[in-house]
Amino acid sequence: MQTADHATGIEGAGPDVDVLLLVGGTVCDPVRRWSGVADIAVRAGRIAAIGAGIRACYPAAATLDCGGAVVVPGLINGHTHSTEALGAGFCDGMRLGEWLPALWGVLDRLSPVALRLSLLAGARTMIRGGCVGAVDHFRQTPMTLGAVEIALEAYRSAGFQVLLALMARDRVGSDGSLVGAPTGGPALAAAEHAALWRAAMARAEPAVGLMVGPGPSGPVRCSDRLLEAADGLAAEFGIPWHLHLSETADERRVAELLYGAPAAVHLARLGLLSPRVSLAHGVWLDPDEIALIAEAGATVIHNPVSNMALGSGIAPVARLRAAGVAVGIGTDGAASNGGQDLLESVKMAAFLGRLDTSDPSLWLNAQDALAMAISGGRRAIGLSGDGRLIVGAPADIAVFDQGSKRLGGFADWARTLVYDRPHGARHVLARGRVLLEDGVLRTIDETALDAGLDAIAQGGP
Ligand SMILES: [Zn+2]
Repeated sequence: MQTADHATGIEGAGPDVDVLLLVGGTVCDPVRRWSGVADIAVRAGRIAAIGAGIRACYPAAATLDCGGAVVVPGLINGHTHSTEALGAGFCDGMRLGEWLPALWGVLDRLSPVALRLSLLAGARTMIRGGCVGAVDHFRQTPMTLGAVEIALEAYRSAGFQVLLALMARDRVGSDGSLVGAPTGGPALAAAEHAALWRAAMARAEPAVGLMVGPGPSGPVRCSDRLLEAADGLAAEFGIPWHLHLSETADERRVAELLYGAPAAVHLARLGLLSPRVSLAHGVWLDPDEIALIAEAGATVIHNPVSNMALGSGIAPVARLRAAGVAVGIGTDGAASNGGQDLLESVKMAAFLGRLDTSDPSLWLNAQDALAMAISGGRRAIGLSGDGRLIVGAPADIAVFDQGSKRLGGFADWARTLVYDRPHGARHVLARGRVLLEDGVLRTIDETALDAGLDAIAQGGP
């Protein structure tokens, strides 16, 4: 690229100086099922033109070389917990019931320095993997406005779009290991959580892709009052909300004990299933629940790697999609994944479902899974559009080298990208801002980040 930061424009040049051209790549759009050699012009955060030969229309524009690369819509990580970056891979020998309380004691009270570094470490990995945004189901105990402000500033500086879904739980003591007081202090009451959510949501900046919304932990860990407050605030502020749903068989049993019905049925009875909400996991859903979720227009976020890591089960993705449910893909937090490589989860989404049904006509292919990681995630964050690369759409774009994996024989671009995964993206743009250029992060100081992470590893703040 010829300029340091095209998003601020280029002073004193010709009429197309505020245009950035992605030139020489093969545009591959799994959402609209189209691919072809084309250049893309980006202006004011949006795609201004797309097609072969448009370069001649913008002779003075800055350029990003995409030769030998595939240009795809930016991916969205539909479910993660940023604070787990410092506990990556903390998932051997435990199911969710044991894992959660063990984790709460370790990663829920990060210092301000550690909190910021944790977020940036996760954002770095996601950006390098072609992501332009995420649902960060954000967890700190106690949750404070100070922690929210640290998170928003970190994402703002990184140029990374987010729904910061503020986690809360208020159900204290009852049946089953998933229902109980959090370690390290008494739970806030529903009204206190809701008041905090309201104050934090006022700090959202949707114009730059920074959303703040309610993130109740899940039905079995939250009172009905708290769940209703989450939906009410989401409606009032016009911002989505997010929660876990039916991740494990144990959780399902607890829901039956508490409600006399599966959790999704309970949510539907409360009127809480709607297009505003995204549901992480949804592993243990019966056909009635799937029908209710579809009818309500809620989104489900599939987390195949995390579900494998904690032995949670295989989500019924084919049945959800057949019912018309919008499904996105998430990594879940690094502690139950090992990392934040969304393309790995896309690959696992394509393959894992094949163990759930032996009918190949119901299996996800590489383009299906990739499109889910784009469109489903955008719904969950509340970003406009479904991610397709068309004129007028937000310029959320990832560029991956094909390198030695050039297409040939039986391969196609989507299989090559998803199954024979590249080591990282070449360029990434979010809302037209260049986050990664030729493999170099433009919005995160990696040297400072690594120094900070090293200091924490050695017992620093
Ligand atoms: Zn989670």
